[in-house]
Amino acid sequence: MEKQYENCRLCPRRCGVNRIHGEKGFCGETASLRIASAVLHHGEEPPVAGECGSGAIFVSGCNLSCTFCQNFQISQQGLGRGISIDEFTQICLILQEKGAENINIITGTHATPALIHGIVAAKVGGLSLPVLWNSSSYENEDTLALLQDVVDVFLPDIKTLDTEIARGFFNAPDYPEIAVQAVLAMLDMRPSYVCGDGGKVLSGVVVRHLVLPGHLDSTRTVLEWFAENVQGRALLSLMTQYTPIGAHTPTRYINHAEYETLLKWLDELGLDGFYQELSPGREWVPDFSRFNPFPSKLSIPVWSFRDGISGS
Ligand code: SF4
Repeated sequence: MEKQYENCRLCPRRCGVNRIHGEKGFCGETASLRIASAVLHHGEEPPVAGECGSGAIFVSGCNLSCTFCQNFQISQQGLGRGISIDEFTQICLILQEKGAENINIITGTHATPALIHGIVAAKVGGLSLPVLWNSSSYENEDTLALLQDVVDVFLPDIKTLDTEIARGFFNAPDYPEIAVQAVLAMLDMRPSYVCGDGGKVLSGVVVRHLVLPGHLDSTRTVLEWFAENVQGRALLSLMTQYTPIGAHTPTRYINHAEYETLLKWLDELGLDGFYQELSPGREWVPDFSRFNPFPSKLSIPVWSFRDGISGS
C-alpha cells in the first residue's frame, strides 16, 4: 500500500512527489511514519474521552497548515520521530493496557497508508479498542475509502465553508467543497452513531467546528449546513477554545457576546451535540517538547518522540 507514496496524490494537494525516495510535498513528510506523542487525553468530547481518556496519537506533519494551529510544533515545525510498525503497535497496546477508551489518530491524512498498516498490525497484536480518525476533512474520497475496514469513528472538522477564510487561514481555497464531500463520504461509511456503556462512542461521525473570533458569519454557515445536511446522522461538537498564537490570525479569544450568539443559534437551529464552556486561557495550547504536552489534568503521557514509552 505504501506504493501510494510514490507520485503522492493522497490528499487534495496532489503534490506528485516521490516520498519513498525522501521527497516531501506540502505536508513536509517522507514515507516514514513519524509520531510526536501518545497520551491518555481527557480533553476530548465526553463520549470520546470517557472515564479513562482517549488514546490520542499525534502524527507529525499536516497537509493543511492552519495559521493558528495549536499543534504547530508537530504539524509545521517537524517535531516527532520516525517509528516502525512494531513500535506503532506497541504504542497502541500500551495505550490499551493503560485504560484508553479508544485509539484516536490525530491528523494522519498524509500518512494514511502507513497508519492503516499500523492499525492492522496492532489489531493482529491484540488491539480491541475502537479506532478514531481525527482529521481536518481536507481529504480525498478515495483515500478515505481505504479506512473503511480499519476506522470505527470519524472525527472530522468543518473549519469553514467560506472560500476566502479557507484561503487566508488554511492556505486551501478549495477546502469548503472538499471538506463537505469528505464528511459525506465518512457518513456513507459510518451512517449511524452507535455508543456503548456510559455513552462512549463505538461507531459513527462527530463533526467538529472551531469558532473563529470575529468570524461568526462563517460559523453560522457551517451550522446551517450541518442542520440541513447531516443533523440526525452525525453529532456536532462546537469548539470555542480558539487561542491567539500567531500574527496572521484573530488576535483575541471568543467574547461573551459571541458566545451568547452561538448558544442562541444552536437553539434556533435545533442542534444538539457538544459545546465547550467559554474559558479563555492557554491551557489548550500543548508544548510537544515536554513529555506531557498538556497540563496534567488534561492528559497522562504514555509515549513521546524523545523519551519513548513512559517509565521504560
Ligand atoms: S499527502 Fe503530502 S505529499 Fe501527498 S499530496 Fe498530500 S500534501 Fe502532498
